[in-house]
Amino acid sequence: MTSLKAPAGNKIKLTQIPNFIDGSYTPALSNQTFETVNPATGEAHGLVAHGTAGDIDLAAEAANRAYETGPWAHLSYAERARVVSKIGDLILVNRERLALAETTDTGKPINESYDGDILRSAQNFHFFSQFASTFAEEAYSAGENERHIAVREPVGVCGLITPWNLPLYLATWKIAPCLMMGNSIVLKPAEWTPYTAYLLAEIVREAGLPDGVFNVVNGFGAGGAGEALTRHPLVRSISFTGETSTGKAIMAAASGSLKKVSFELGGKGANIIFADADLSEAIPTALRAAFRNQGQICLAGSRLFVERAIYDQVVEKLVGLVKKIKVGDPLSKETEMGALVSAEHMEKVLSYIEIGRAEGELHCGGERLEALGAGNFLSPAVFTGLPIGSRFLQEEIFGPALPILPFDSEEEAIAMANNSPYGLSASIWTSDINRVHRLSKKIKAGMIWVNTWFARDLRTPFGGQKSSGIGREGGRYSLEFFSEAKTISYRYKG
Ligand code: NAP
Repeated sequence: MTSLKAPAGNKIKLTQIPNFIDGSYTPALSNQTFETVNPATGEAHGLVAHGTAGDIDLAAEAANRAYETGPWAHLSYAERARVVSKIGDLILVNRERLALAETTDTGKPINESYDGDILRSAQNFHFFSQFASTFAEEAYSAGENERHIAVREPVGVCGLITPWNLPLYLATWKIAPCLMMGNSIVLKPAEWTPYTAYLLAEIVREAGLPDGVFNVVNGFGAGGAGEALTRHPLVRSISFTGETSTGKAIMAAASGSLKKVSFELGGKGANIIFADADLSEAIPTALRAAFRNQGQICLAGSRLFVERAIYDQVVEKLVGLVKKIKVGDPLSKETEMGALVSAEHMEKVLSYIEIGRAEGELHCGGERLEALGAGNFLSPAVFTGLPIGSRFLQEEIFGPALPILPFDSEEEAIAMANNSPYGLSASIWTSDINRVHRLSKKIKAGMIWVNTWFARDLRTPFGGQKSSGIGREGGRYSLEFFSEAKTISYRYKG
């Protein structure tokens, strides 16, 4: 990576971030804009089209036209794959620009944007462009001279609604399989992080995607463009990643027109370390699992449970490592933790830190780092002594604040892991393979890591149980969601 620079001079030139409808960048119908703010400086860096229901109408109509009349829905997998993999190629060509945009919008360290989010975004297109051609249709032979085949067809217009923590990464995780199955898209990015979706639109056009197949409408969620998308009669499915409470609102709104829904929601991952674990791996991974992306990851190991025999040792080592985390300018390659996404979100995290101080013992961090300027910088915090029923352990904080609790038995570890409304992910650290099987059977979570964290194979199902979601993404699970099954039964003359 060559050096990445923020705009020079004192005056920041505001980037115009319009909507993208029917192959063209367009202002909002109202001509209104809102500012998008750099979380590391507190300064506006962009003016975003304030799309509302009327803009969603235009985008949904364009998407529907493209679906009904355009070639995209009728192309072969190979023909679609040429465009979809080209989008992946162009993301790599534009990697620096996209990484800089993502860091400016989210406050995450530039290394994480460049080596994590943007690479994975390209991979999402490359992976699905290949994988979709392996998606098998079914055929059954029943009675004599009778055959039943189940084919997969596009759903039509799909609404994609995405969060701010991994903006391009999670949007492309939906866009790539959705395109491969021949659908048209209306994307509503999170209001705090619209920048990379805007740049992606240019890439998609350059890759040769027909006009109207991919549309982006910026704006707000409840009462705004997001909600209008979930109610729109031309939109046949909603794929949503975000908070559990938003998922519930979307489910209610989408029920009016009976849309298909797929929800990837909140998490409160249990990270369980047994005394027989390899601590040289478990402790640094626990650090990453809790604090990567400023702790703003649905899959974070945000509750650390440690077997009592090694509890004091783990707390001491981990606190030592947390104190060394370099918090600062997200554009510096040395920075390990950047700024939280917004002042509003930082206040929410600070309110949980107050709960932690009142109910437990704070070992380090938990302070607003004002010396770093007007950005949303917090020092990473570690707490012990909190009760399992505390809001600190039950609710999703989505920030750099980790509680550690001891346990005395396997049964207690399972009970603590399951003592949560969420069921997205968990990690188990042990060298006992029998224990691995016992725990992974009993822990209620969609994904379980053993002696690792965040490992992914894009073919496997990704998603949560309980309040963490409905449905699964990844591999054939994404392709199934973004397609309709149709059974054709026929008799032939023998
Ligand atoms: P959020 O507040 O639920 O917002 C997500 C998206 O939904 C945004 O685009 C938002 O628009 C929009 N929205 C809000 N209310 C809406 C409504 N009533 N109708 C339609 N759209 C609406 O979530 P967030 O704060 O951006 O993201 C953090 C959450 O995402 C955390 O809970 C995290 O665990 C979860 N997450 C889950 C996964 C997973 O795979 N399970 C991955 C990443 C994040 P505005 O931005 O304008 O509000």
